[in-house]
Amino acid sequence: MTDILTARLENLRLEILRTHDKKAGESEGSTRRRKIDALLVSDIHNVRYLSGFTGSAAQVLVLPEKAYLITDSRYAIQAREQCPHLDVRVSKLSTDAGEQLASLLAEQKKSLRIGFETSASYRQVETWQKYGARWRPVDGIVERLRMVKDSGEVDAIRNAARIAAKAFNDASRLLVPGTSERDVAIAIETAMRRRGAEGASFPTIVASGPNGALPHHSAGARKFEPGDLVTIDWGAEVNGYCSDLTRTVLIPGAPATDKQRDVYRIVLEAKERATAAIRPGVTGSEIDAIAREHITAHGYGEAFGHSLGHSIGRVVHDGATLSPKAAGVVLRPGVVTTVEPGIYLEGWGGVRIEDDVLVTETGHELLSEPAGPLDAPRAAPPRKRASAPKG
Ligand code: ZN
Ligand code: ZN
Repeated sequence: MTDILTARLENLRLEILRTHDKKAGESEGSTRRRKIDALLVSDIHNVRYLSGFTGSAAQVLVLPEKAYLITDSRYAIQAREQCPHLDVRVSKLSTDAGEQLASLLAEQKKSLRIGFETSASYRQVETWQKYGARWRPVDGIVERLRMVKDSGEVDAIRNAARIAAKAFNDASRLLVPGTSERDVAIAIETAMRRRGAEGASFPTIVASGPNGALPHHSAGARKFEPGDLVTIDWGAEVNGYCSDLTRTVLIPGAPATDKQRDVYRIVLEAKERATAAIRPGVTGSEIDAIAREHITAHGYGEAFGHSLGHSIGRVVHDGATLSPKAAGVVLRPGVVTTVEPGIYLEGWGGVRIEDDVLVTETGHELLSEPAGPLDAPRAAPPRKRASAPKG
């Protein structure tokens, strides 16, 4: 693990050096990068990515020669255990962490240009500026590294997708008339925990009947009725990595209408066509357009409002990948993205189908068992019961 973390730090140092390269800065397009000599990483997900530290309060300061983890006494033992590749500096109180940073900067012989992440608060930046270095906002520098996953990270996401699918199967007996949206959400989240997840990667969405028209409806008290379409969007967090899946199912008791079948088929085809085109070198906007054009050709273009997919990893929305605005996102091996087209019709309901896809050297690999037709509302085939031994 320490080797991986050291390699991540080295890659980050190369990115910091690249800010000195005029040509590389220009090729990034509109966001011209400003020259920095060092970086203060304050986003806790980025801190964990670079340091392996799993506590809730720390910063990583990456100087040209050395890197530090700054935390407080609550985490002193944990930080030294988890971060042997970093110089760990500990303040007594969490409120005094700034003093550690100030003294590290005071030790520097020259005034450094230090990048800070744009997710930092105004108050934090104001405080840091008093420590004397020259501070420069930097956007998404660690996030760009995080976008390309190594094999261990891919395994964690694959595992998170598998646990999520099994939990869906555990709860699928509740997908009948009379169950409430909230009951299904609770059942899926409990089953994920029972199967080894740290928790849900976000609050489970269960949107039934007309609620399906709201892409991010939160699971409420509405009870399923025969013939409802129900959209369920859920994910598991396993070893710090997230999965994100969506299935739309038909509640038994009434046959699907022609319109329900049509809308479902169009969304499924859009997902399959877009997924089939995923490979290195293609841009996120090209993949988005494949799904969007398919849905538009069937007259539902206005009903598909959101982007086609986002990167997943340590957080469930880990950066834009597939969207009309992602012309600058070139897919590379190791990128993991969701593919999640949807059609939402006010007063009628909606359909969304979402799977998790890894970009490989030669194309792509589905990390989740892909959704089937409307009549088969399962995230993964139910496990066959072993026949009892004879004798
Ligand atoms: Zn989702
Ligand atoms: Zn998603």
